[in-house]
Amino acid sequence: MTMLTRRIPSQQQLYDRSPRWLQRLLVNAEALRREWFRRSGNYQKLVRAYDPAFYRQSRVEQEAFQIDRLNQLLTAARCHVPHYRANLPDITIRTMGDLQRLPILEKADIRRAPLAVVSEQASRRSLWARKTSGSTGTPLTFYLDREATRHHQAAADAMLAYYSCRFGERRARFSGAYVTPYEQTEPPFWIYVDYYRQFQCSAYHLAPQFYSHYLRALRDARVSYGTGYPTSWHLLATYLIESGAQAPRLRAIITDSEGISLEQQAVVERAFGCPVYQTYGTGEIGQVVWQCPHKRYHVLTRAVILEIVDDQGRQVMPGETGEIIATSLGGFNTPLIRYRTGDLATLAADDCACGWHSPSWLAIEGRVDDRVHTPDGRWIRVGGHVIKGAVGVAESQVAQVAPDQVVIRVVPDVNFDPAAMEAVAAAAHRYLGSAMQVSWEQVERLPRTRSGKLRHVVREYV
Ligand SMILES: [Zn+2]
Repeated sequence: MTMLTRRIPSQQQLYDRSPRWLQRLLVNAEALRREWFRRSGNYQKLVRAYDPAFYRQSRVEQEAFQIDRLNQLLTAARCHVPHYRANLPDITIRTMGDLQRLPILEKADIRRAPLAVVSEQASRRSLWARKTSGSTGTPLTFYLDREATRHHQAAADAMLAYYSCRFGERRARFSGAYVTPYEQTEPPFWIYVDYYRQFQCSAYHLAPQFYSHYLRALRDARVSYGTGYPTSWHLLATYLIESGAQAPRLRAIITDSEGISLEQQAVVERAFGCPVYQTYGTGEIGQVVWQCPHKRYHVLTRAVILEIVDDQGRQVMPGETGEIIATSLGGFNTPLIRYRTGDLATLAADDCACGWHSPSWLAIEGRVDDRVHTPDGRWIRVGGHVIKGAVGVAESQVAQVAPDQVVIRVVPDVNFDPAAMEAVAAAAHRYLGSAMQVSWEQVERLPRTRSGKLRHVVREYV
């Protein structure tokens, strides 16, 4: 068996050795496979069911829908899903507060037995084994069935349409999808996927010497809107403003997988001359939080229940920050009930002026494990606030390079002010404690992970 796997080149090796035309055929074949899960069968009907008009209903009406759907989900899960049969108490949920009587599903539970959270009634053929890179460095394999995948897709596509961007129009996407070998040093770092009219760009290869190449390719691709990693769009936006280069004409940019600050978001809007909407989601739960024109993050209550809890697992008060716990309401065969995401958000205290009554968040604060380990044994969370006082910084990363040493790395833009960075480092030193040395350095580029993402906090010692 081992010999066999050694002799047969991996899918990726085959792709790398293929000429461009064959690569394009291969990515389209993969797109066809994915679309069977995402947008076939009852997909159109689901898109109508996820009509965003739902979010204009009163909070009480939206919660009544969620609780009803949740009780159906709990009944199905107790009957057919081994993990929940063993762990869910036999109770009926009457209020959102009752959710706390249900156990939390940890990533470790899924890692231990991925099929134990799959319904015995699910057909094996309909299961899609998905992987997350896991920012803790521990990848996770989980299953979503075709029905759950379509619910995710329909909820997101209904929101896209709400922002006048339709699936089926030409669009550009920056993400970690594999486009060219990691070692490749010359463009093209993009490929057109005809099947879903997507101009797929590699976030991993986006280095300063190639910004103008990417922009030219985007202009030539004549795309209507952009999607994917906001940090990639932001790098190009900074370059556009500095160089005066011509921006591709886009109707909107709808980002996912990562977050950027509202200040960075404003830079992207200015450079590309179109609105930017950030979204939050994970592979496991779908793209379930969307910014509105008021820059609030609204929960798609039709698709998911998201609780924000403190360290003790209690739901936080409005205005407070806590961890996101997710319960997917679409599809009963691969249920995630009270799933701990590891991500942090701040709950808004009042209703948003946009007219939606779904719960909204003021900010998504990164990950629970964006932390620095101090010499006196504390784990201190390092969020965007650390870099707040910086002037003229395009992007930044906090690297713990030794048990008692932190370096703040910054990519400067034209307005960069080194004196402000001195103040930032001094403030971080006070925040992290006197035993921690804090310095800063200017870099041309911050490295991306293999999936093309920018990590805000890294630990670089053993
Ligand atoms: Zn709003």
